[in-house]
Amino acid sequence: MRWSKQRLGKAGLAVAVVALCCALGISADTAEHQLTVYTAQSSYSLPVLDRGGKAYLNVADLLSPLGASQPHVKGKEWRLELNKAELRLTEGKEKAVIRGHQADLGGKVLVEDGRVLVPMDAALSLLSQLLKTAVDYHQPARRIFVGNVFTRFHAELKNGDQPSLVLTFSQPIKRLDANHEEDRGVLFTHTDRTTLTFSQDPLVSDVNKQQFGEGAIQSLTFSEENGAASITVTGNSKLQVIRSEDGKTISLQPQAPVAVATPEPTQQTAPSVEEGQRHTQEFFVMIDPSHGGYDKGAIFGGKLAEKEITLRLARELRKELEERGIAARLLRDSDIDLALERRAEITNEQHAGIYVALHAGRPGRGVRVYSSLLSDPQQPLAGRFLPWDSAQSGALNRSQAAAHAVAGELRKKGLTVASLGMPVRPLNNIVAPAIAVELAPEGDDPQSMESQKRHNTVASAIASGIAQVRGQMGVRP
Ligand SMILES: [Zn+2]
Repeated sequence: MRWSKQRLGKAGLAVAVVALCCALGISADTAEHQLTVYTAQSSYSLPVLDRGGKAYLNVADLLSPLGASQPHVKGKEWRLELNKAELRLTEGKEKAVIRGHQADLGGKVLVEDGRVLVPMDAALSLLSQLLKTAVDYHQPARRIFVGNVFTRFHAELKNGDQPSLVLTFSQPIKRLDANHEEDRGVLFTHTDRTTLTFSQDPLVSDVNKQQFGEGAIQSLTFSEENGAASITVTGNSKLQVIRSEDGKTISLQPQAPVAVATPEPTQQTAPSVEEGQRHTQEFFVMIDPSHGGYDKGAIFGGKLAEKEITLRLARELRKELEERGIAARLLRDSDIDLALERRAEITNEQHAGIYVALHAGRPGRGVRVYSSLLSDPQQPLAGRFLPWDSAQSGALNRSQAAAHAVAGELRKKGLTVASLGMPVRPLNNIVAPAIAVELAPEGDDPQSMESQKRHNTVASAIASGIAQVRGQMGVRP
């Protein structure tokens, strides 16, 4: 299924910032160097680390999103499997063993806090040899393209009453600039230049500069750096940026005084094949232990990180669900970074029966249960392209029923419970019923966040709540 993604409404964002900033993925590492990997299924970015002046990557960050197994560690040797091929790394060695053959890594394997790091440039040989497919590495820009996934574009200047530059893309653009949501007004548009940054799309171009002449739109430059591509348009006017609903075109035109972007109507097509298959698949709960990797989430008592609590609670919840005969999967079962968007995409791609995000946070006490709060629940769901930011709208009633049942079970166990409707990310982007459960300390005691007994109680209540409504979850209203 394809997705067109739109901006998160600013009002919604403000509410969420006040209430639950940890869920917004705010982290201290915003200006980090990053590497982006593009595959046919997805794209993801991972932090690039400086170790003695050399760029390094965490191997788990690189390979887990592609489906690599959990690592087996034995002494200094570290093994994992991906695509039925084995990768062996040894701390301090400059060579890896891939499919039984030695491969030069261009630097030593480092181990830090249970994470295995390899030189960044080794990513090319690791990926090409494990995946056995073409891998292109735009090294200075830190972009890796797996299996010839490229999005190309052409630009055409239309001179009507007012000039309009139309960019047509070979594949739908998933997302414009990661900071788009926070940007006020039209993104990065100044009087003389407008920059569109593409962080999630494998956008490439054979032409780096095009000239159009004088006036509002004069030239276009393509560039790529730090795991992203940019298109910069220069001219003598502020430009309005309009992305079509299907994501295949972006138009830039001089800003009208009270211009309102009117996207083209949603393309109506027959429901995709996946849509029909959804109902025949086994029901399972997608458990999302929020945060992970560099994103530690909230910190309790000076050292205990939210990302650890959510993972522990997630494993407990999986156990409780399985004991009730309900299948469950974890979005991460190790300490990896996983973007909020990617979490939603995986959940949707795998057709989860229900999605449960787990958080731990202050302030307050007890447990908070969230379901989405969409401003426009009437948004039609027909057609192939679901609006990314309101993907949840068709499941809203079922999400609320699930939140209600879970809150009820938590109360039965004597916990203080608050039920809230709130656009906690990424609930709005999930097609299935979706809730978030946030554990807060009991009173002022940060130790309560570590209590195994408390984790048991909470996990058991969530599982009971889901078991209660399980029958209603797969049915569209
Ligand atoms: Zn959180």
